[in-house]
Amino acid sequence: MSRVGVLALQGDFEAHQRALADLGVEAVQVRTARELDSLDALVIPGGESTTMLKLLESENLLEPLRSFGLERPIFGTCAGAILLARQVENPAQPSLGLIDISVVRNAYGRQVDSRVARIRLEGELARRSGRQEIEAVFIRAPIIRRTGDGVRVLASYQGDPVLIEQGRHLVATFHPELSPDRLIHRYFLEKVEACES
Ligand code: GLN
Repeated sequence: MSRVGVLALQGDFEAHQRALADLGVEAVQVRTARELDSLDALVIPGGESTTMLKLLESENLLEPLRSFGLERPIFGTCAGAILLARQVENPAQPSLGLIDISVVRNAYGRQVDSRVARIRLEGELARRSGRQEIEAVFIRAPIIRRTGDGVRVLASYQGDPVLIEQGRHLVATFHPELSPDRLIHRYFLEKVEACES
């Protein structure tokens, strides 16, 4: 059984814990670099990336997280996706740069900033699940504007990628932890197991 942590500085980390518990994984809350040591994988939840960044800086967690991600899988959702990206716009802010994507924050505009939508599954995820669409909860979501060569798109919405993977890492601009469907968390756990073997 994989040991999974959820970064618990800010945001909806408890919803991720519940999603993982549904799949039989008791994920632990992570607030210090030392707590990362014993883990096989980490989830960075949604929330407010600017606030999370400040807390990561004040807790001296940025470098430990970066090193963790060079060896072990991270699943970032929404604000977590922003923290994992190589480049962040609107406005620009520092990030872990572990995934070769550029993101634009709050990119769906103020009026329609949160919604539940059907997104289209692609590639490996569509093949493995045999499904074409799933429900996705977007809350002041970023848009992925650029994907580098090693990035694979697993789902899209209105023509933009909303779920991607690069190597061991997985990124969603929406909140799979807020839908009853556990497809995406299951996919992440399968990735984690594949990394371990
Ligand atoms: N808008 C937030 C940010 O820029 C992300 C929102 C979310 O995580 N639901 O950090």
